Amino acid sequence: FITLGIETSCDETSIAVTAEGREVLSDIISSQIAVHTKFGGVVPEIASRHHLQNINGVLDQALSEAGVSLADVDLIGVTNGPGLIGAVVIGVATAKALSLAAGIPLVGVNHMHGHVSASYLQYPELEPPFLALIVSGGHTNIVEVTDYNRCTVLGGTRDDAVGEAYDKVARVVGLGYPGGPKVDRAAKDGDPDAIRFKRVYLENGSLDFSFSGLKTQVLNYINRERMAGREVNVADLSASFQQAMLDVLVDKTMLAAEQTRADRLVTAGGVAANSRLRQMLAEACGARGIRLYMPEPVLCTDNGAMIAAAAYYKYRMQGPDDLSLDAYANLPL
Ligand code: ATP
Ligand code: MG
Ligand code: FE
Repeated sequence: FITLGIETSCDETSIAVTAEGREVLSDIISSQIAVHTKFGGVVPEIASRHHLQNINGVLDQALSEAGVSLADVDLIGVTNGPGLIGAVVIGVATAKALSLAAGIPLVGVNHMHGHVSASYLQYPELEPPFLALIVSGGHTNIVEVTDYNRCTVLGGTRDDAVGEAYDKVARVVGLGYPGGPKVDRAAKDGDPDAIRFKRVYLENGSLDFSFSGLKTQVLNYINRERMAGREVNVADLSASFQQAMLDVLVDKTMLAAEQTRADRLVTAGGVAANSRLRQMLAEACGARGIRLYMPEPVLCTDNGAMIAAAAYYKYRMQGPDDLSLDAYANLPL
């Protein structure tokens, strides 16, 4: 059973081919990072135009690397939200055109559900239920995945997403875009205790997050240092900021595991590629006997394979969508 997965919700044009739901035959990721770097972030209009320019080439490459033709494809899965609307539209229009022209069933996939499904590719034995920590550019959620197609949101951010905080802090310290990987790298040479940033836990027992205050603390710190004529140590600042955020993230994830008596945790989303988070979760889960599922970094950030994985299970449980499938900027889990 061959599935084609199409992802265009942000700045990666990606198409993948999977076999039997979990085997990745190809996963072509055309990143627009170089295009958006000079603007310090993703410019939606430019992203749409590049998706349009790239998508046919990415499709050809995905099929040829997998050694299949369109006639072999049994299912097309496409991200139909949430994301930059003009970017999502390109993927959805492409998927519909292919579905109609080649007579292949089509399913729309929630991008966040796609992120969670990346672990099915990495861990062939993994099945719901499990607890999942979703940390990406636009989302921060702790969810209970109860079935392939169902989940309950236990907590989420009330303001900035974790990836967003990484990207904003990277910009103000001059590390540039995309910030997450750069802060990750810079922090390796820094002291996480150098600057004491306040950890925000909200109400007792809450599984929600608030990270916008941390961003303000970082800004205030930078301004104070500069006013005093002192050079900001980017490595120490990166390490201290990151540690303050990850302490809360890991503590609350462990609290959620305790509250739900979960013995399995899946990480998902671009920030799940972070080396310090991976290390901290491995330690915290190890100490509590929780089995940890962390997909390799390339499966954490946006890719077509995770969309194919989610599509496979959605199709098996709910059947196809029709050609009225729409694209959405906001789409709840
Ligand atoms: P969403 O999935 O919420 O719609 P998105 O698709 O833009 O948003 P992802 O592609 O899942 O987000 O992840 C991108 C985010 O992950 C960016 O904010 C980026 O800075 C962050 N990120 C990527 N690698 C790392 C890393 N090693 N450390 C920290 N953050 C990282
Ligand atoms: Mg991206
Ligand atoms: Fe994403």
